[in-house]
Amino acid sequence: MDIASLPKVLLHDHLDGGLRPTTILELAEEVGYGGLPADTAEGLEEWFDQGTSGSLPRYLEAFTHTVAVLQTAPAIERVAYECGVDLHADGVVYFESRYAPSLSTEAGLSRREVLEAMAAGFRRAEQETGVLWGIIVDAMRQDTDSVEVAQVAIDSRDLGVVAFDLAGPEAGFPPDDHLEACRMIREANMGLTIHAGEADGPDSMWRAIQRCGAHRLGHGGAILVDCMVEEDAVIALGSLATYVRDFRVALEMCPYSNTHTSGRALARHPIRPLHDAGFNVTVNTDNRLMSRTSMTKEMTALHEVLGFTRRDLERLTMRALKASFSSQGVKDRLYRVIKDGFAE
Ligand SMILES: [Zn+2]
Repeated sequence: MDIASLPKVLLHDHLDGGLRPTTILELAEEVGYGGLPADTAEGLEEWFDQGTSGSLPRYLEAFTHTVAVLQTAPAIERVAYECGVDLHADGVVYFESRYAPSLSTEAGLSRREVLEAMAAGFRRAEQETGVLWGIIVDAMRQDTDSVEVAQVAIDSRDLGVVAFDLAGPEAGFPPDDHLEACRMIREANMGLTIHAGEADGPDSMWRAIQRCGAHRLGHGGAILVDCMVEEDAVIALGSLATYVRDFRVALEMCPYSNTHTSGRALARHPIRPLHDAGFNVTVNTDNRLMSRTSMTKEMTALHEVLGFTRRDLERLTMRALKASFSSQGVKDRLYRVIKDGFAE
């Protein structure tokens, strides 16, 4: 199966987790950032490969370097443009890219200006390649500015902002600390996805869905804790797992990233039993730089390690399209593209 050429839909990809190593070097030189852990592209690629970190806080530490070079509008525009071009080359036809604009305000940019630069880069990639996109605005759950960030997200629909997300360390920072921001987003009729069930248990997912009103969850692998599993198959569901499955809550799973932060082998990834049990699971990259991954690599792993067939991968792709925060018009258009792309 030629997975590289299959059409792909990506719902969970961080702008500051997908920079090209060569671009990091060039931008660091431009802005005079001297804190990089290596001075060659190969050295950086090696350092950023978090395959052995085994913990979420260590994984998050790597972002200090990428964020350090994302402090000017031209740098953000360039990184967004290259993100769109790289995803298109990977077969992606629609992507949602997320970023916390507050992280790029150190040199004087406003949050709105950060989003303007991001949108300009994606527009340039779209003009060149035809790839379609939406922006998800992140607030960091350990910070206290989620209300301001939510307001910027709501005011930036004209830039292609489609949703709001809570990112950052999950354990110790429950999503319902940010109820006001979530309420604002819902009342503005905007998409809401929340990182939950990645580094914390099902209770974090329950808070995100039932208290915050999230439409989708980032990762969500912890839902397997609320299931009874025998010989790798789900045989009974708890109350929350039943809700997540039956109300079709989309889970944005990121296999390589999840194995890196949890230390669990790919062959044991919950996406297989959850897919078999009828959950609305999707496959994503999370941080292409830190996990040295791509959509092609993720889907190849699903096929080779977890036994997903071409038909399974098509179902994952269609689910992602349906769960995306794009318009119905985009969905109708891409439905055909995906059908044709998967036809043998
Ligand atoms: Zn993420």
